[in-house]
Amino acid sequence: MKDYKLYVFDMDGVLFRGDEPTPGGPEIVSEIADGGAIIRYLTNNSTRTRRDYAEKLFDMGYPAEPAMVYTSAAGAAIFLGPTSAFVVGEDGLRRELTDIGCRVVDDRPSDWVVVGACWGLTYAMIDEAQWRIRQGSRFLATNLDSTYPIEGDRVRPGAGAVVAAVQTAAEQTPEIVIGKPGTTLLRMIWSETEVSPDQTLLIGDRIDTDIACAVAAGCDSALVLSGASTQADLRDSQIRPTYIYGSVADL
Ligand SMILES: [Mg+2]
Repeated sequence: MKDYKLYVFDMDGVLFRGDEPTPGGPEIVSEIADGGAIIRYLTNNSTRTRRDYAEKLFDMGYPAEPAMVYTSAAGAAIFLGPTSAFVVGEDGLRRELTDIGCRVVDDRPSDWVVVGACWGLTYAMIDEAQWRIRQGSRFLATNLDSTYPIEGDRVRPGAGAVVAAVQTAAEQTPEIVIGKPGTTLLRMIWSETEVSPDQTLLIGDRIDTDIACAVAAGCDSALVLSGASTQADLRDSQIRPTYIYGSVADL
C-alpha cells in the first residue's frame, strides 16, 4: 500500500463493533498518526455528537478529539450554519445544530426541516415535518441508511426509514443528503485539511456506502471485511475498492 497524507476511517465495523474495539485497531491508527499522517473519522450516524464519538474512540485507545470526527449531524450543522430548523432526530443532531448557531424550533416557522434517525418518532412529527416542507421549508436528510446496527445480529430502522416516511407524506425528496455514499462529508474534510483526493485513503466496511463514497469522490479506498460487507457482497458488486483487508489491523 502506498503512503497517504490523510486517512479517513469509517467507525462502526472498522474501528469497533458496538463497544468492542477491533483487536489491533488502536495500535495501527496510532502508528499511522505518529508517522505524521492526518487522521479523520467519518460516520453516517446522526444520533451522537462529535464529542461523544471522540470520547468513545479515545477511551478505546484511538487518537481522537472532537474536531477529528465527522458525523452526518456535524455535517448538517456545518452545511446549514446559523439558520432555523425543525428537527426530526435525536439529541446529538439537535446539539450539533444548536452549537453552530442554528435555531432549532418547534412552534415557529423554519427555513429547514432536518431529518435523521429518530428513536422517538411519532405520527405528529411526520405530520409537522411534511406540512412545513409543503409550506416551503427546505428538506435536508442526514443520511439514507435503511438500517441501524445494534449489538448482535439485530438491526433497527435507520435514518432512511424516517426520511422515507417524511418524503412520502411531503411528496418531495430531500434537497440534500449529507451522509455517505454522498461526498459532502469528504469534501468538508478536504476543505478543512487542505489535502487532495489523490493523497487520501478512505477505510470502510460497507461497499454500498463507504467504498461507493470514495469512488464517487475520486479517492482510494480500503474495504475491511470485519463489518457489514462480505466476500460474497464484493463478488456481486460493480464497485471496486483499491485494497481489501480482513481487518483494520492488517493495514
Ligand atoms: Mg461501518
